[in-house]
Amino acid sequence: MNNEVRSDTSTLLPRGRQVDFAQLSSPSQWKPDFAVPYNQRVIGKKILISNDFGDWLLLTHDEFRDFVEGRPLPGEPLYEKLKKANFVATDVDLWAQADRWRRKKRYLFFGPTLHAFVLTHRCNHGCQYCHSSIVGMERMDTDMSIEVARRGVDVAFSTTSPALTIEFQGGEPTANWEVLKFIVDYARQKNLDAKKVLSFALVTNLSLMDDEKLDFLLDRKVQICTSMDGPADLHNKIRIFRGGDSHELVLAWMKKINQRYAQMGLDVNQYRVEALPTITRPSLTRWRDIVDQFVDAGCRAIFLRKLDPFGFAAKSAKTLGYSMDEFLEFYAHAVDYIIELNRKGVQVMERHAAIMLNKILADEEPNYLDLRIPGGACIGQMGYAPDGSVYSSDEGRFVASMGDDMFRIGSVDDGYRTLMTNASTRALVMAGLNDGQPDCVSCVYKPWCGQQVEYNYKTQGSLHGHMRDSVWCRKHKSIFDYLMHKLEAADERDMEMFQLWTTNRTLDHFIVER
Ligand code: SF4
Repeated sequence: MNNEVRSDTSTLLPRGRQVDFAQLSSPSQWKPDFAVPYNQRVIGKKILISNDFGDWLLLTHDEFRDFVEGRPLPGEPLYEKLKKANFVATDVDLWAQADRWRRKKRYLFFGPTLHAFVLTHRCNHGCQYCHSSIVGMERMDTDMSIEVARRGVDVAFSTTSPALTIEFQGGEPTANWEVLKFIVDYARQKNLDAKKVLSFALVTNLSLMDDEKLDFLLDRKVQICTSMDGPADLHNKIRIFRGGDSHELVLAWMKKINQRYAQMGLDVNQYRVEALPTITRPSLTRWRDIVDQFVDAGCRAIFLRKLDPFGFAAKSAKTLGYSMDEFLEFYAHAVDYIIELNRKGVQVMERHAAIMLNKILADEEPNYLDLRIPGGACIGQMGYAPDGSVYSSDEGRFVASMGDDMFRIGSVDDGYRTLMTNASTRALVMAGLNDGQPDCVSCVYKPWCGQQVEYNYKTQGSLHGHMRDSVWCRKHKSIFDYLMHKLEAADERDMEMFQLWTTNRTLDHFIVER
């Protein structure tokens, strides 16, 4: 049982806490064989219980006491409620649960889906938090060559996954435009035989975009994602660009691309440029401005990302960094404001919340690689560096750019089988299991949480980490707490809104025809 007690420094962000069993019921009354294994946590006036199937209930204290004492009898409302949520051990349909587990863990039955190609380390921006150790635009020696790209695509296509997303990263990936074009066309060609569910994503600062490039990207159905930190003063202060006004450029291109999507007849509610903010110290008081800027730019989703511990971000932590409490206070303010906007009819959601609610309310597993078990390292994603090195993920490659090859699992010459079965890969996968983690095993959020071994390693010096002192755990537990308090207090209108956030719409347009 997890007895941690943490101080609640935030008045806005309600924290869950551990159940004091001694006050609720005497151990002599407990009937452990009544229930399936479960964990519990106090949420407001209720007690949250969850089981490994992913079911959960918010019980009153009296209901919880009756539950641990195994008192409810068949036919009684509490018994039926517990039975429906698979908490009564003798009433669980194991075959149905096995099917459900297989559906939600389907990613375990095949290899990595996401293949991140770092096309170059060059970039024309000097973002203060950049985690990918960029170099100047003259350093063409850091570009990926056509030959490395070809071998990388061959490795990516050897994944046993029926779906394959090739993501272009950098530096600024459009700086190595010829190789980007080569990969897109080579992969499309290969897919005539492979017949995978193939898609492409480009993460770009948009500063090198022009009409010719945009025509190519739209024609080849490459999804475009960019970075925007909020209003102009905030964005331009951190995302330093000597070639012009970065914020103005980003907004202009976002508008243009969104218009092109509309001209192509795509549903404008779904097809929009995805922009991601990185939250820095100057952002902390600007939650309202940031959300407003995203809404003004036509975004339907905001992914409020905490500063990474990787690369330049680690070096600039003194000026841009903040405590986890400060981030969580910011997060709660921002999401409260997003909820307020939704109540006024504005369609916008926060992505962490949407991913978690998808698991909690919709019983789905969105395969978000940072919040799944085992974590996404190697078996969910692979990162390909310009020199042909293959890493456990893009984060693994960030660690390498800081001089530590801990997450290098091989090279594009090694072949898929070697990459997937070598000792490093096995160790990284095993470390990404919550079921082997002290604290996680007794955490009520375990069915929906996950691990990122690279983060554990970078922040705590061990692949497994130590969840009790982990900022990773702190962040996720606090956001789960925040959402559970919202669900506990939600009225019908709020529940409708949260359900809407969980609605998964596949962006079929971005799937290359097979
Ligand atoms: S990492 Fe997740 S599952 Fe583990 S203790 Fe923290 S919140 Fe719970």
